[in-house]
Amino acid sequence: MTGNDYYMDCGGNQTIVNRSGTGRDDLLLEIRRNGVAGAGGGGFPTHVKLNCRVDTVIANGAECEPLLWKDKTLMAQHPDIIIRGLMIAMEITGSGTGIIGLKKKATQAVDALSGHIQKPIRLHLLDDTYPSGDEFVLTYETTGRVPPPGGLPLDVGVVMLNVETLFWIGSSRPVTHKWVTVAGAVPAPKTLVVPIGYPVRAALAACGWEPDQGTRVLEGGVMMGRLLPDLDGPITKITNGLIVLPRDHHLIQRYERPRRTVSRIARSACDQCNFCTQLCPRYLLGHPVEPHLAMRHIAMAPENSLPPTGSLYCCGCMLCSLWSCPEDLDPGAITFDYRRILSENKTSTRLKAREPHLLYRYRRPTLSGLKRRLGLACYADAAFPVEHLTHETVSIPLKQHAGIPAEPVVSPGDRVKMGAIIGDIPDGGMGASVHASIDGVVQAVSSRITIQGDNR
Ligand code: SF4
Ligand code: SF4
Repeated sequence: MTGNDYYMDCGGNQTIVNRSGTGRDDLLLEIRRNGVAGAGGGGFPTHVKLNCRVDTVIANGAECEPLLWKDKTLMAQHPDIIIRGLMIAMEITGSGTGIIGLKKKATQAVDALSGHIQKPIRLHLLDDTYPSGDEFVLTYETTGRVPPPGGLPLDVGVVMLNVETLFWIGSSRPVTHKWVTVAGAVPAPKTLVVPIGYPVRAALAACGWEPDQGTRVLEGGVMMGRLLPDLDGPITKITNGLIVLPRDHHLIQRYERPRRTVSRIARSACDQCNFCTQLCPRYLLGHPVEPHLAMRHIAMAPENSLPPTGSLYCCGCMLCSLWSCPEDLDPGAITFDYRRILSENKTSTRLKAREPHLLYRYRRPTLSGLKRRLGLACYADAAFPVEHLTHETVSIPLKQHAGIPAEPVVSPGDRVKMGAIIGDIPDGGMGASVHASIDGVVQAVSSRITIQGDNR
């Protein structure tokens, strides 16, 4: 069986529910053994997240970062497996309602899912706005409930999982592969399906990218991603997108701006117009996030005084910096920094939610407007072709998730099969196990496990 056969066989021939007699603890154990962690970018171990009781499970297929299409494509191609995963999550949590939140514009995914859903699961179609995939925003959009500041969707009876996470739950297989969109300044944007540990550089090359073209790469997305310092790193369980942009692109220059410079400009240029707060999605939900107060604090407060506590409830969506501020300042970076400082000072975090703002519905930017503002309108943004790839060598990090790193259970020279466990979490530890993503021989074990494939 080749890597692609293995991948494509992930439950594709099973019926939606074939688990009679499988208990809740067994299901959680299977998810733990399979190393499932939040594929939307958080990497939170899924067996821990699902160990709760709620009335609603939400499948997050909103995928609101510009240019990303991997979730929409996955829903279009494997609706049955995602729905099976959702039903398992509902069974574990005792939930009576399942909701799949996705955008109206993802028409292929909507059609594919519509052919498979049955009560008590329903689709919730979203407008093409940002940040519709934020878990608080999506909870409100789909249920009308607002998680409290400093809390979780769990506080209002909801668990939310990314659709790729649900795909792996539904497949009942170890997490060995990743769906990744490669887009932006590449000749042939694609959604790739690659073994975990696949080199980033090879993924870019598969889309026609060539080195020395004066480009930089954002991992995750242009709004909430990070500038990749090293293209020789691997694709992990939480790599969703690789967005290539010219080195002189406005966004790249912003990402490269030293934090010292961000603070200096903030001190001198903010005119306290308050737009950043008025358009902040968490503020509009009734949370006390007020980035203009963070900007005022950095300009005027005595050194070493604690920042405004509302910064604690910033989700880091960067809308204030990349959309709202007419002065092109970076209140999101300042607010998010303050969130870290406040968290380190253990400032109390949980508050009571207020009512959402009356103008909530009218203050959400459309993706098309956001792309124009960001200088991304010239790049393809559509259901990209899907390509399954493998590689002769993979380098699999032992930590791709929230919590502690997995401990290696293989040594150099060991022969492994795809799906075999190569790193495990000790009993009582929080994390996710990791598995071989190709057949081959273990070459090296450090913070990553390198496997030389049999088909080199
Ligand atoms: S939008 Fe910009 S200029 Fe206005 S208060 Fe916020 S950071 Fe200052
Ligand atoms: S990054 Fe800015 S817009 Fe987003 S939640 Fe934080 S303060 Fe609000």
